[in-house]
This record gives sequence, structure tokens and C-alpha cells, in this order.
Amino acid sequence: VRGCVILRPYGYKIWELIQEELNKRFSATGHENIYMPMFIPEKLLQKEKEHVEGFAPEVAWVTHGGDEKLVEKLCVRPTSEVLFCEHYKNIIKSYRDLPKLYNQWCSVVRWEKTTRPFLRSLEFLWQEGHTAHASFQEAQQEALSMLDIYKNFCEKILSVPVIKGQKTKHEKFAGALYTYTIESLMHDGRALQTGTTHNFSDNFSKAFDIKFLDQDNNLKHVFQTSWGLSTRLIGALIMVHGDNNGLVLPPEVAPVQIIIVPVKTQDNLVIQKALELENKLREKNLRVKLDLSDKTPGWKFSEYEMRGVPLRIEIGPRDIKNNCLSIHRRDTQEKNIISCENFEPEKILKDIQDNLFLKASLNLTKNIFEANNLEEIKNIFSKQLGFIKTNWCGNLECELKLKEITNATIRCVDLEEYKFKNQKCFCCDKPANQKIYCAKSY
Ligand SMILES: [Zn+2]
Repeated sequence: VRGCVILRPYGYKIWELIQEELNKRFSATGHENIYMPMFIPEKLLQKEKEHVEGFAPEVAWVTHGGDEKLVEKLCVRPTSEVLFCEHYKNIIKSYRDLPKLYNQWCSVVRWEKTTRPFLRSLEFLWQEGHTAHASFQEAQQEALSMLDIYKNFCEKILSVPVIKGQKTKHEKFAGALYTYTIESLMHDGRALQTGTTHNFSDNFSKAFDIKFLDQDNNLKHVFQTSWGLSTRLIGALIMVHGDNNGLVLPPEVAPVQIIIVPVKTQDNLVIQKALELENKLREKNLRVKLDLSDKTPGWKFSEYEMRGVPLRIEIGPRDIKNNCLSIHRRDTQEKNIISCENFEPEKILKDIQDNLFLKASLNLTKNIFEANNLEEIKNIFSKQLGFIKTNWCGNLECELKLKEITNATIRCVDLEEYKFKNQKCFCCDKPANQKIYCAKSY
């Protein structure tokens, strides 16, 4: 089907490593995994007005079961808010049942007109967290702390720096009160929305009548959040770190962290030493692969370079004689010969991980520009892409004008306190009360 992708083992392994790391963080903050059905009855989807309007244009419908036409058509989940609401309505009775901190790993379907591998496909894998709380403040806290977890994960595990902020009313999730986002900068200067969290307030719980009996014996509506990250993260990895020779993977999510290439596969001593080294590294819990195939070393070098394996070790008769290893770093393309005693693979991998983050951070900082008005914004975008920081009055007309004139959008509103002294909106010259990041995006 158009716009669907196959995640082959190497790509799927990256996803599994992402899942592993996120699950650690979710469970450390009290969240539990759950699995919901993939079909949504039409009636259920229509309960929250803004939500259905937002998603209806891209929903895939099941109209038949076998030969029979269904009495009520079923939607293939584009996201699962309404399923969780229906479930929460049944299981939440008292304040003692709160909070509910659930997360689900699944695939969702959105019938997009234009698709791009990893960035926008009809079906994609993701996690969606759905939580219910007794108070607005608690839901707000959840939406913000999950955003921090996302930011930390992207920066520590994917080495992808992000800008944290809030979506404008125009760009927020359908049905949410507030949507928060992390945005990253791709190699070509375009922004990518890497993850979002939403505070629904009691919008959904009113539509679905999810109530609990509070300690004061009053029936109250719950407050909800949702948050998600998808296989789009793999797209971000490719576009942030990749170079002209292919992928460059941060060691934390590299399916193979170290590739061992014996320079002579006919030489028994070389093979024996290579196997010993492989075992030693495996015992350290490193993801290591020894390539004993009969392909030439040159072929192997470029293959694993293209696949972004962080560290390559070459072993030949001369290295064995000198008790040395030839190592090659994918991120810097540096080649070194070091003695076996001084080889500290964990340290090198950590260094690669940090270096990739540093490199990407420098690139991000270098590509954040400041502008005061539309003319300056246009001027900057005519020379290069990137993020433009400017001031905004908060009105939709100015937001739409930006899009119309420059084809860029407000990626997010800065969450940090900002001292405004005589600052004017980039568009209408009225007093500005928000600092925004604009960019052209995927
Ligand atoms: Zn304005």
C-alpha cells in the first residue's frame, strides 16, 4: 500500500533500543504499559467535537467484515484518546483510582496525502501515553514532565538536541487545551517535530463523562494528558547525524556498536584473535559483530560505514604481532592504532555519543537567527533555513501571515520567562508578549 514501509531488522532493532530506553523512563515515573484494540466505532470517535474534526480527514475506515457490510463502520485508530476515555469511564470511580498512568506501544494509521519514509507514513509505530488525574495542576505537571523526559531521551540517547516549547492554538493537537513540543533541526535546516505532549484539561472527560468521587464526596471530572513519540525519531537520527557516506549512529541506539573486520580471513591466528576479541566485548555487554564473510575488507569497511556503526576494529597479522588494534571512528573518520592494553571500548563509545551531541548542538546554535520583522525573516530565509527567533503578539492573523509570506510556521512558543521591553510583534507592530521559534518544517 502506498506510503507504508517495511522496517527491516537493522531499522527495527533501532526502534527496539528506543523502546527499551523509553520503557525504563516510563516505568521509573510510575507508568504502566497496556494494549488497546485497534478499531474505534464511529460513534465513539465523534464524541469529542474538536478531536473528530481534526482527525476525520485522515481516518481509514473498515466498512466490511468478510462479505457483510457493517452496521456501524469502524475507524482504524489514528490515535487512541477515545479508546482510553471509554475505558477510563468504566474503571475510574473514586479518587483512589487516580492517577491512571498508562502507555501503549502500537501502530496507528493516518491516511496522509503525501508521505515520506520515517517522517510521514500511512501506518507508523509509536508509543502513546494516556493519563488521568484528579486535578488540573497534576495533569499540567504530567504534560510538562513528560516533555522533559522526551527532551532528556533525545539528547542523551539519540544525541539530538531539541528546542522545547508550546504549540500555538492554531497548531495544537485537536482536543487539547495545551500542546507542548520538542523540535529539532535537520541537516538541511528544516525543523522536525520530534515529540509532543498534551494537556486536555477536562475536555475529553466532559465529552465522555469520566467522573470520580473525590475526598470531599463530590463527583468531579478527571483531567487528562496524552503524549507520543514515533518511528519518526529514526528519521531524525538519519537526518541529524548522517553524512555523505551514510548513517552515523549514536552508540546508545546502534544495533551494532562495534564491528570487527579481520583483514585476512584465511589466517587462522587472525580469526582466533578476532573471535577472542568478539567474546571479550560481548562479555562487556557491548553490541558487537564479527564479520567473517568472504567479502573483501574494503567492501566491509564501506558497508559498515554506510550503516553508521560507531566503531570499527581491524585485525591483521601485523596488529597481532605488535599486540595492537586498528580502530576507526565513524563520527570523526579518525583512524588510530592503539595497544590492546589501552583499548577502552566503553570510553570510546561514550566519547562518540557525546561528540555527536556536541556537533549537533553547535549546528543548532549556529542556525538560530534573530529577527524583528517579516522583512528580516524573509531576508534570512532567502539565504538559509534554520530557526528564527522573534516576538509575537499572539494573534492568529500574524501567524497566518508568516505562513503566507515565508512558508514557515511557528514551531513553538518559548516556555522560558522572557523579559519584554518595548518588543513589538514581527508582523503587526503591536506589543509582543511571546517569544517564538519559526522554521520551515517537514
Ligand atoms: Zn501581531
